[in-house]
Amino acid sequence: MSDAALLASKIRLIMQLRRNGVSDTNVLSAIESVPRDRFVEPEFADKSYEDIALPIACEQTISQPTIVALMTQALDVTDRHMVLEIGSGSGYQTAILAKLSRRVHSIERLPDLSALATERLEQLKLRNVTFHVGDGTQGWPHAAPFDRIMVTAAAFADAPDALLMQLADDGIMVIPIDQGNGQQTLFRITKEGSTFVKTPLGEVRFVPLIED
Ligand code: SAH
Repeated sequence: MSDAALLASKIRLIMQLRRNGVSDTNVLSAIESVPRDRFVEPEFADKSYEDIALPIACEQTISQPTIVALMTQALDVTDRHMVLEIGSGSGYQTAILAKLSRRVHSIERLPDLSALATERLEQLKLRNVTFHVGDGTQGWPHAAPFDRIMVTAAAFADAPDALLMQLADDGIMVIPIDQGNGQQTLFRITKEGSTFVKTPLGEVRFVPLIED
């Protein structure tokens, strides 16, 4: 695919995201500035600006751009925020968060994916990110609390306690939760004093969050 064709497909994608309810201009600019074609396997590069999920290494998937954009918008990130991400995957969502926040800690359980994501973000010169290999359901206590927590794999029944504990006051978490009936619902959880307020945002489809 030529550079001109890639650019045209990128512009079409941005228009599609707007139609799908993405109105936050910071989120749209972040999507525009991160080359998704570098995060997919080479054979899918010409599909990288279509609004579809695509396979990545280790049988995982890079989420559909509309989902990435809507989740990022729901997270309401600013450049003052410390962000924790669970499920680095390709590193695409990590790169978007890096553009919008002060610092990102991203945890991935599969070392090969984490290594590839690290390499990609280095190439893009996004230096405010630290990748960790491990079980993200435990969070990253060394750098807690986090203003924002983004989980990109589906938790079972509820958000992991360790992640709730590591959310700062007035913090926001966005997390898909498997309701046990084969359905996954995306939730926005805000910490208000000692209570957590959970708002459903819609049905989604993610790979499971695996507890190691
Ligand atoms: N946001 C990614 C896609 C994530 S796919 C992107 O933009 O490409 C979900 C990822 O979560 C997978 O890579 C999977 O290996 C990882 N994962 C699943 N359970 C996990 C856990 N307990 N801790 C950390 N990562 C986990």
